[in-house]
Amino acid sequence: MSSTRPVGRLASEDTPQLLPPRSRLYPLEPVGLGTGGVESATSYVARLAIAHTVSTWSLLKCEIAPLLYGPDFVFRNRLSELVSAMGSAFNGENTTCRKVASILNSLTLRTDLLSLSMAFSRGFVSPRLLMRREQAWCPECLSKSKSEGGPTYWPLLWNLAAVRSCPKACAGCARESACGFPSSQSS
Ligand SMILES: [Zn+2]
Repeated sequence: MSSTRPVGRLASEDTPQLLPPRSRLYPLEPVGLGTGGVESATSYVARLAIAHTVSTWSLLKCEIAPLLYGPDFVFRNRLSELVSAMGSAFNGENTTCRKVASILNSLTLRTDLLSLSMAFSRGFVSPRLLMRREQAWCPECLSKSKSEGGPTYWPLLWNLAAVRSCPKACAGCARESACGFPSSQSS
């Protein structure tokens, strides 16, 4: 044996190993990425909060709002503004959705989170009246996902004003009282 390495010294000490960059938040895999059933950006934020065992409000307040508005933002007004406009602002086709996606990408070290909004429709779909103002959901899809042990998430499609019922044509969406979609009678 002609090695000059001191006894007990590991090979890894000779060649420092570069650690891959660490993300501040979990790089949670979006549901349905690249499909028509992709989850919305607000759904992703909610699931990201759950993954960190904090409330969505806390995640917005401590991680997203300071990057969106700057460290000296007026907390009360800007944050309530953000929350009230969150659905259309995060999921739609606008400047805010791009900023939020960029912030989420930087916090998770992902590169694909703009895909959770309607940003792709820029230039060929008018952003005006694109998103619904009230939240809608399909109870059947949610309970099915839960019973199958899958993640609870809100597809981006549920946020579109033009979508009047669950795209999977679940029976529950035919009843106005069962979900946030308008009844078939009012469409
Ligand atoms: Zn459904």
